[in-house]
Amino acid sequence: MLVNIFVFVFGAIIGSFLNVCIYRLPRNQSIIFPASHCPNCDHPIAWYDNIPILSYLLLRGKCRSCKQSISLRYPLIELLNGILYLMIVSCLGFSVYGLGFYFTAYFISALIVTAFSDLETGLIPDQPIFLGIILGLIYGALIGKPLDPLLGAALGFSALFAVQKLGAFIYKKDVLGDGDLKLAAFLGAFLYAPNLFLGLFLGYLIGAVVASLLLAFKVKKLGDYIPFGPYLALGGLAALFFGPQIIDLYVIIFLGLR
Ligand SMILES: [Zn+2]
Repeated sequence: MLVNIFVFVFGAIIGSFLNVCIYRLPRNQSIIFPASHCPNCDHPIAWYDNIPILSYLLLRGKCRSCKQSISLRYPLIELLNGILYLMIVSCLGFSVYGLGFYFTAYFISALIVTAFSDLETGLIPDQPIFLGIILGLIYGALIGKPLDPLLGAALGFSALFAVQKLGAFIYKKDVLGDGDLKLAAFLGAFLYAPNLFLGLFLGYLIGAVVASLLLAFKVKKLGDYIPFGPYLALGGLAALFFGPQIIDLYVIIFLGLR
């Protein structure tokens, strides 16, 4: 129980840092300097106003200095990161005393930064993805699978590269950005084949459903830019937590094997 509280609080604190990354990385600002300040009035945020989730509730979602509303995204990402870190322990069975927990935590948090940066700015920042591929290679070497992340990254990149070229040939326009290709390489460096392909497929499926809904409800029109990064990230998370179960289910249902 105490460990679970630690894991959740740790996740929420990292989530608070992710909010800084989501705001600053696409704007090419340093994520270390200056300390947190209100994006509206530049007032520095005191430590007691920077406690994950709680401060947002205590301040009723408004800056203490200028009363400008704080985006609901801030406490939501802290909550989300805390819950997902708990799932590393409860669903995947990693112990907080082992390195696997922290590598998996990096994978999850980098996907959150990627998804929300892409949603808000249409840009996927390189830094968390490049660092992530290196960490994936290091982790693979540590657990005695040095080739799996290398192969996974190469397969992820090539698969989406093929889709990008094919799409450009058929539709005469860019269907995928270069950021999506790098993101697929990052997914491969942690998920490995065949789970990687499940992640890409789920991402495509979720993206297609959401895009159809956006078109049906006329939020977007045909030809509008719809970022694909968030769906790839979501597919990657689904594959991480439920990949082996989904693949088993598929094998049982469609191939009649047990
Ligand atoms: Zn303010």
